[in-house]
Amino acid sequence: MKAAVFSKPGIPLSIEEVADPEPGPDDLILKVKACGICGTDLHWSQGIDPSAGWRHLAPGSVMGHEFSGEIVELGKNTRGRFRSGERVVAQPFIGCGDCDACRAGRSYRCTVVTTRASADLTGAYAEYTRVGIAETLRLPDSASFHAGALVEPLAVGLNAVKRAGLQVGDPVLVIGAGPVGLSVALWCRFFGAHDVIVSDLVEERAGRSIEFGATAAIDAASEDVQARYKKIAGRPPAVVFDCVGLPGSLQLSIDQAPTDAHLVIVGLCMAKDTFFPAKAIVKELRITFAFVYSKSDFQFVIDMLGSERIPADALVTSVIGLDDFPHKFEALRSPGADLKVMLEPGFSS
Ligand SMILES: [Zn+2]
Ligand SMILES: [Zn+2]
Repeated sequence: MKAAVFSKPGIPLSIEEVADPEPGPDDLILKVKACGICGTDLHWSQGIDPSAGWRHLAPGSVMGHEFSGEIVELGKNTRGRFRSGERVVAQPFIGCGDCDACRAGRSYRCTVVTTRASADLTGAYAEYTRVGIAETLRLPDSASFHAGALVEPLAVGLNAVKRAGLQVGDPVLVIGAGPVGLSVALWCRFFGAHDVIVSDLVEERAGRSIEFGATAAIDAASEDVQARYKKIAGRPPAVVFDCVGLPGSLQLSIDQAPTDAHLVIVGLCMAKDTFFPAKAIVKELRITFAFVYSKSDFQFVIDMLGSERIPADALVTSVIGLDDFPHKFEALRSPGADLKVMLEPGFSS
């Protein structure tokens, strides 16, 4: 099959023939119908600070963890539970299926989990991908494959909002209007926040958050965010979400949070960062870090997409095929107007 293959930081991905994935007994093979480009992959492919002690992306890896597809091959234990041709979404990792974490629908915490873009699990920037039966969920006919590929980033936002312990009527500030920030704004509105105000340094991005549930937007490049927030909402935010994920954004969120606020960090900063703890201590902030979702979060997002309770398709601002993929992937390294760029491996422009 064809896939977008990583070689090393600084070198664009290249479209190459790689081995077709083979299903293990509890696996399914999907024909990838859509896969979103995620900022995490952009950062990861740039290399990670060695002091983090994390593994680097191995040469030959294929990334891509926000996907939907159609079942084309079934492992021997999966027959009777799924059929060929079914439209599905899967979490981007495969657990043992049997430990406490896996049984709780949190196979990411399984001690033997296999994650995307590791040597033995090819991601979905490819024509086909392998998924585990325990992590796979059906996509209703009313949800498009694009919507299916948005389930993962929407579940990231859902997990963050759940961890925020939001109360109905709360005023909320969302810093950063990328896909994560918009997903957070959407769920804050869904769960009854009174003011969902989104700030971004790019005015156009901030303004677009209104489509996803924000009640107001702040252009952080030209306005004082705290003063503007208070003017709009009449009070400071109770919850502040950092959805930027770059060095300096944690400090920025601490600076913008009012006394006693709850700060939820969901933007995934993959570089070393520093912050001034006393500034958070003096304000007596509560700081929560949010990462990934459980299987029930995935199911909830799918149900809400299927019943058209949340707007999602508008997150997709470009659709590309595999041939244009490496070029577009590189272009996304400089911030622009795109929100979510969707790969359709079979798409030709
Ligand atoms: Zn992602
Ligand atoms: Zn397990």
